[in-house]
Amino acid sequence: MTAAPDPRKRGLVVKIDPNRCIANAKCTVVAPGVYVLDDETGVAELVDEEAAPFEAIFAGARACPTQAIIIEQFGRRVFPQILPPMWGDKPQAD
Ligand code: SF4
Repeated sequence: MTAAPDPRKRGLVVKIDPNRCIANAKCTVVAPGVYVLDDETGVAELVDEEAAPFEAIFAGARACPTQAIIIEQFGRRVFPQILPPMWGDKPQAD
């Protein structure tokens, strides 16, 4: 019997930026079997996006020091969050 798909994963897309990945394997330690390092390139990859538990996908992404793991849902980025620019004048030094 197969488990029902996790509804939290609907529309979820995980991308790993090869230019940001420094191959330090933090994601593979936090989410073993979910993220692995490619033998040839050293870049992390998601083993099986459909089978990967929701929590493990995000745990690996949060562990990444360079924020190379980018998670989108229905085309909108959900991790890492993009901080909006600050408007207005710079604070004045005393
Ligand atoms: S934690 Fe980030 S930098 Fe390290 S291997 Fe995973 S994706 Fe690459």
